[in-house]
Amino acid sequence: MPELPEVETTVRGLATVLAGERLTRVMVRRPDLRRPFPPDLVQALTGARVVALGRRAKYGLIQTDRGRTMVFHLGMSGRWRIDPGEIGKHDHLVLETARGRVLALNDARRFGSVDLVDTAALDAFGPFAALGPEPLGPGLTVAHLAQAFDGRVAAVKLVLLDQGVVAGLGNIYVCEALHRARIHPERAAGAVSRAALSRLVLEIRAVLEEAIEAGGSTLRDYARPDGELGYFAKEWRVYGREGKPCGCGGTVRRIVQGGRSTFFCPRCQK
Ligand SMILES: [Zn+2]
Repeated sequence: MPELPEVETTVRGLATVLAGERLTRVMVRRPDLRRPFPPDLVQALTGARVVALGRRAKYGLIQTDRGRTMVFHLGMSGRWRIDPGEIGKHDHLVLETARGRVLALNDARRFGSVDLVDTAALDAFGPFAALGPEPLGPGLTVAHLAQAFDGRVAAVKLVLLDQGVVAGLGNIYVCEALHRARIHPERAAGAVSRAALSRLVLEIRAVLEEAIEAGGSTLRDYARPDGELGYFAKEWRVYGREGKPCGCGGTVRRIVQGGRSTFFCPRCQK
């Protein structure tokens, strides 16, 4: 499943092809993904110029000069293909630019989504309205976390997965950031010390930025035909490493919290 860094890398890859370009052809090749495509999608995008690309949480934003923004989510299996040699069965939305570049939104499982939103009203768009600050933006501070965690007895891991506390943080990155900040995932959020919160803010940023950098190093590949955006290999310190050694000499354990796996090191996470 694409996480925030994959979406960020995808948006940067799309920008290399779309930024400033006019869309000359838009094809919707089936009625829906997780929900129907907007009925006016083809009309709204055909002939429009892309003025900016961006990201909010795990959503990609393609802003046009018509005051409307296409908002996409990659769901479980979505990815963009750049200049695919031929359009495939799972290429559900195809954009062509005036320069003849082709972008295909490919989503075999169709858990993704595409919406059209008035750019001026993006903050009020349903999925965005209740989101907390971006983890890589200025809103994620020690003070913000201290306030969000204050008095909460729920496990810090579960509170961090709450998109209203921090936007776009997924299971992998929460596990990795807690490990790097040396915070036990089952600790009550309200009992995490100020010093540990300082480490947490830094490590959330670091783990995301390192992943984006790793994805960026594959940007070269985007230029070639059949380039695909959305996924890249990463190495984790605890995620998926049950029973393997931690850098501290301890052993990584797996527990289940809120129905999802948590990987951590009981020796260095307190
Ligand atoms: Zn350890």
